[in-house]
Amino acid sequence: MTKLIEKLLSTSDLTDNELRILIETDDKEAAELLRIRADETRQLHYGKKVFLRGLIEVSSYCRNDCLYCGIRRSNREAERYRLTRDQIMLCAENGYELGFRTFVMQGGEDSSFTDDFMCDVISELRKRYPDCAITLSLGERSYESYKRMKEAGADRYLLRHEAADEELYRSLHPSEMSLAHRKQCLYDLRSLGYQVGAGFMVGAPGQTTDHLIADLRFLQDLKPQMIGIGPFVPHHCTPFAEEKGGTLELTLRLLGILRLMFPKVLLPATTALGTIAPNGRELGLQTGCNVVMPNLSPVNVRKKYELYDNKICTGEEAAECRTCLQRRIEAAGYEVAIERGDCIN
Ligand code: SAH
Repeated sequence: MTKLIEKLLSTSDLTDNELRILIETDDKEAAELLRIRADETRQLHYGKKVFLRGLIEVSSYCRNDCLYCGIRRSNREAERYRLTRDQIMLCAENGYELGFRTFVMQGGEDSSFTDDFMCDVISELRKRYPDCAITLSLGERSYESYKRMKEAGADRYLLRHEAADEELYRSLHPSEMSLAHRKQCLYDLRSLGYQVGAGFMVGAPGQTTDHLIADLRFLQDLKPQMIGIGPFVPHHCTPFAEEKGGTLELTLRLLGILRLMFPKVLLPATTALGTIAPNGRELGLQTGCNVVMPNLSPVNVRKKYELYDNKICTGEEAAECRTCLQRRIEAAGYEVAIERGDCIN
C-alpha cells in the first residue's frame, strides 16, 4: 500500500488494478499516509490557503429529474423559489463585505433564467466587483448560451459529470438525459475559455470501484481546474430515499487520490461531506482540499434548496457561516485567503 501511494505521488498515475487496491483498502495506516502525502502536495502548491466561494443558490426550479436529487421536477413536495436580480445583488454585496472574492451562482435548470437575464446579472456583477471571479453552476445549456454568459463576464463553470460510466449514468438519470451531452457541455465550456469544474458523488446507488476508476480516467482526459466530489446523501422524496449514502472514509480516500493525481487542482471540502460527519470538511481540508463554499443565499430560501436530507448551514446568516467556517479552517491548521483563488495551472 505504501508503495502504491509513493508511486502515485511521484507519477500521478497508477494502473487500473493499482487504483482499485487503493480505492478499496480499509487499512488505517494507508489512509493516514495518503492523508499526509495529499496534505504535503496541497501545501507545496497552495500553502495553507483555503479559498472561499460564496454560494448563491439562485433557483430551486428544475426541469430535470435526476433520481438522486431533492429538487428534481417530480418532487411535488419541494418548495420552489427563484431569486430576483436585486436579491442576487444583495447576496453579492453582503458576500463582498464578508471577504468573498468568488461568487458561485448555482441552481436547478430553470428556464426563467434566460440568457438575457443571466447576462444582465453577470455583467452587473462584473462591473461592481472587477476583482471577483464569477462562477456559474446552472446545468446543461447550449453552446450559444455558455458563450454569451462568458462574454458577459463569467469566469468559471461547475458541471459535475456525475458518472463517467454510461450504464451508471443512465441508472441515475431519466432517459432524456445523456452522458454524451453532459460531456459535450464540459468540452464546450472548456473551449470557450471557462475554468471548468467536473466531479461526481461518492457512493451513488449502484456505483462500483470500476465506475470510480472510469470517473478518474475521465477527469484525466478533461483536465478540469476544479473537481467537486462529495458523498451521495439520500433525499426522502426521491426514488433513492431508502438507498445507503456514501461513506466518509471512501470520500476521504478519493479526495487524497485526487490531490495526488491532480496536484494543482482546486478541490472543495463540500457541504455534503460536512453533512455526513460533524468534522467532515475539516478532515477534507487535511486530506488535500483547498476550497470551501459557504452559503450566501437568503436565509428564508435556504431550506428550499434541499438537494439531500439534513443539509447543514441552512439556518444561519451568511455572516455567521463565515465566522464559523473561519474558526473551523483555522482549527484544522489552515488560513482563509481573501482572493479570487484561481487555479495555478
Ligand atoms: N443543476 C446544476 C446544479 C446541480 S446541484 C447541475 O446540473 O449541475 C449540484 C450537485 O449536487 C450535483 O451536481 C450533484 O452531484 C449534487 N447532488 C445532488 N443531489 C445530491 C444528493 N442526493 N447527495 C449528494 N449530492 C447531491
